[in-house]
Amino acid sequence: MPDADLLVAGGTVVTPAGRRRANIAVRDGRIGYVGTERPDAREVVDASGLLVLPGGVDTHVHLMDPGSPEREDFPTGTAAAATAGVTTIIEHSHGHPVRTTDDLRDKRAYLEGRSNVDYGLAAHAWPGRHAEVEPLWAAGVSFFKVFTCTTHGVPGHDAAALREHLRATSLVDAVTLMHCEDESLTESAADLLRGEGRVDGAVVPEWRSRDAELVAVAVAALLVRRTRARATVAHVSNPEVASYVARERAAGALIAAESCPQYFLLREDDVEEWGTLRKFTPPARARTGEDEARMWRLLRDGVLTHMSTDHAPSTLAQKAAGDIWEAQFGLPGLDSTMPLLLDAVARGHLAYEDVTRVYAEVPARTYGLWPRKGRIGVGADADLVLVDPGARSTLRNEAVISKAGWTPYDGREITGRVVHSYLRGEVVAAEGKPGDARGGRFLPGPGAPRASAG
Ligand SMILES: [Zn+2]
Repeated sequence: MPDADLLVAGGTVVTPAGRRRANIAVRDGRIGYVGTERPDAREVVDASGLLVLPGGVDTHVHLMDPGSPEREDFPTGTAAAATAGVTTIIEHSHGHPVRTTDDLRDKRAYLEGRSNVDYGLAAHAWPGRHAEVEPLWAAGVSFFKVFTCTTHGVPGHDAAALREHLRATSLVDAVTLMHCEDESLTESAADLLRGEGRVDGAVVPEWRSRDAELVAVAVAALLVRRTRARATVAHVSNPEVASYVARERAAGALIAAESCPQYFLLREDDVEEWGTLRKFTPPARARTGEDEARMWRLLRDGVLTHMSTDHAPSTLAQKAAGDIWEAQFGLPGLDSTMPLLLDAVARGHLAYEDVTRVYAEVPARTYGLWPRKGRIGVGADADLVLVDPGARSTLRNEAVISKAGWTPYDGREITGRVVHSYLRGEVVAAEGKPGDARGGRFLPGPGAPRASAG
C-alpha cells in the first residue's frame, strides 16, 4: 500500500525561509513529508518547473452571504479565491453582521456546503455591547471588526467605546481588526463638499482624507497599547500611516498593519476618471511611482505586516446606481490579489518568499490559524498552490469569477500564474477554472475549546 495519497514531485517549494527543490507527500489531507525522498503515492503530480507555495490566507473578505447575495455569495466568492490560489479566508459581511453567538451559530449552519475553501468567520463589535466579546470569542469567531466611523450601516466606536471593546478583548486575548477613519473629520468634510454641490469623483479623497485616517489610527493604536490588546489596522493606505503604526509597535503595542493591492497599484486621481468604480475607503493615496515603491519597501521590510484583499464587490450595474455619495464603497479583488503579488515579484518589488510571508504565514499567525494553515511543513493542512512563474497573461473583466464580473486591473499585463490549487490535498481549481466541490470547512478561532479530533 502506498505511503501517501498524493505526491507533489519535483517542484520548487517556497516558504518565508527560502526555496528548495523538494517532494511533498500528502496523507489524509495533511502534509506528511517534505524532502528529497520519493515516497510511494496513489497519485503523483509532476511539479517540475513550477513553484509550490502555501495556499493563500486572505483574512479580510466580504462575501455578502447572507446579506447582499446579489453582490456576491460564498460559492462565487470562494470559487474566485480557490482559482486565484487562496485556500483559506476569514469572512465578515456588514449587511448581516455577527453580533451574538446565536448569529454565529446561524451563519455557520447556513454556510455548510457553500464554500470551496476553508473559512473562519469574524464578528462585528458594536458600541455598548462589549459583553458579547467573551462568549463570541469562546464560540470561535476569528476576530472582531471595529469601525471608528459609522460605515456600511455599522455604528462607529468613539475613543471611549473603542477602549471598552479593547479592554474586553485583552481579557480573553482576542484580536480586533480596526477600520480607522475619524468620524468628525469625514462628516465635516462631507457637509462642506455636499454644501458645494459636489458630485464628482474627486470628492472621495477629500471626504475620506489622509488626516481622517491618520487621526483615527493614532487614537486606536494608542488605545491598543494602553489596553494591552491585540489588533490589526485594516487597509493601511499610505506610508505615513504605516510609520505611525510602526512607532506604536516599537513602543510595545501588539499591532499589525494590513494593506491591500489597491494601495500599491491604483492612484489617488483615478477616482476622478472612474468615479464610483474607484470608490473605496480609505481611498487610493499613491500619486507617483515613488509612492508605490515606498509601499512595496514597507511590505518587504515587514512594517506593513501582511496583505489582504478587502474584497467588497459590487457589479458594474450596482456601482452605476447612484452618485458618488450613494454608491457602495469597495472593490472586487479575490480574483486578482495573488496574481498581482506574483507579478510584483516579476517586477522586482518582492521575492516569492515575501509573498508566502505576507499572504500566508503572517495572516495565519495573526488570527490563530498557524501552524495548520499558511505553512508548508509536516502536520500542516496540505493547502498548496502550484505557480508557473514565467507565464504571462492579461487580467480581464471577462475572466473574473467573482459575481462582481469586473476588476479595476482590467488590461493589466502580469507575469506568474496559479496553475493548480489544493485544499487539504484535493484539487479545488485547475488552469484558471474552479472545481465545483464545496468541501470548505469552518475554522474555529483560537478562543474556541479545541475539538478532540483535529
Ligand atoms: Zn473591509
